[in-house]
Amino acid sequence: MPKPAVSFRPRESTTPLRFTAPYARADLEALVARHGSPLLLVDCDVVRERYRRLAAALPGVDLHYALKPLPDLAVIAALKEVGGYFDLASGGEVDLVRSAGVDPERCIHTHPIKRDSDIRDALRFGVRIFVADNPDELGKFVRHRKRVRVLLRVAFRAADAVCDLSKKFGCEPAAVPELLALASKLGVEVVGLSFHVGSQTPTPVMHVNAIEACGALIRAARDSGHALSVLDIGGGFPADYLEPAMPIEEFCAPIRAALAGLPPGLRLIAEPGRYIVAPAGTCVASVVGRALRDGRWWFYLDDGMYGSFNGQIYDHASYPVVALREDGERVNAVLAGPTCDSIDVIREDIPLPLLEAGDLVVGRNMGAYTSCSASDFNFIPRARRLAINAREDVAGSGQP
Ligand SMILES: *Cc1c(COP(=O)(O)O)cnc(C)c1O
Repeated sequence: MPKPAVSFRPRESTTPLRFTAPYARADLEALVARHGSPLLLVDCDVVRERYRRLAAALPGVDLHYALKPLPDLAVIAALKEVGGYFDLASGGEVDLVRSAGVDPERCIHTHPIKRDSDIRDALRFGVRIFVADNPDELGKFVRHRKRVRVLLRVAFRAADAVCDLSKKFGCEPAAVPELLALASKLGVEVVGLSFHVGSQTPTPVMHVNAIEACGALIRAARDSGHALSVLDIGGGFPADYLEPAMPIEEFCAPIRAALAGLPPGLRLIAEPGRYIVAPAGTCVASVVGRALRDGRWWFYLDDGMYGSFNGQIYDHASYPVVALREDGERVNAVLAGPTCDSIDVIREDIPLPLLEAGDLVVGRNMGAYTSCSASDFNFIPRARRLAINAREDVAGSGQP
């Protein structure tokens, strides 16, 4: 009998990959041997665990995962399993939750500045709650007013957030009464307030101040006949990097106390992104070459500042990086990315074993704002995303 033709296309596995963090060296080597390098592993067990931990720290608050830091089907599926909600900001994000079979009633659209086509895409999917922060944006909802409910986004300055978003979006608290009056005149229903104090906030002080200020705005609005029933406290919950963050239970305790002081009858929403996915992402890169320059070893990886490590620029993050090879003496090394650009250097003065081509280097806590903003600069492909510990096999299916 003739032998069956050999298929040169590797067959995708149909059984989910299962590993427990921190992953064994042999497992990571086997993954790279099978799927190539660089990889970004997305651990769905960690996603579910982080969701449950934040939900326990914020009882009574609906957690809408903001897709922005890691728009990935496996993450969406994992959060759907544990009862999560979703926060969308673009047509692409709408398509992704739709393809994951998410109920549109569990989604809100929170981009403050939209095209009419963005609004219509989200409406067609079934999203009903949107965000506005100025008169023009309220005006865009007039033609959709029968189907839309709006949250007014209010800005509170967050001088100590790593990424302060209060400059770019949100109205002054003092502008809320006039925006409410304009919405009434336009026939657009405003159901509540939202804010986003910025990302990776070191302390909960900004959240607490913003919740208290919104409480006062909601009381004043109710007194003047606007029945606000939603408060959305945004994201900003911090994750560990080289510097550990405040434990989430400690971070949320004063937030819980502030929420307890709000007027009654409010639906409470949060939009965590980073906190849920940062520790779920592990970058696995390979050494492609090395050189001794001015007495220092340079190790060149197949992932770098234009790839998964771009968050070290755009997101101001520093990721813990280790080599899997543990033997031998440490040398003071430079870890560099694969492109021909001189700023493509991941870390200088890092003690590492004397690595060789093929050795693996692992970056931890790299789930948020890494893969989503990576590029193919120099025509070097970005890391392949691989879901592990997913309930169904959705490995890599959220790849752009
Ligand atoms: C980016 C963003 C989030 C998520 O912020 P994290 O700091 O990652 O939690 C939530 N809401 C809005 C409106 C955002 O733009």
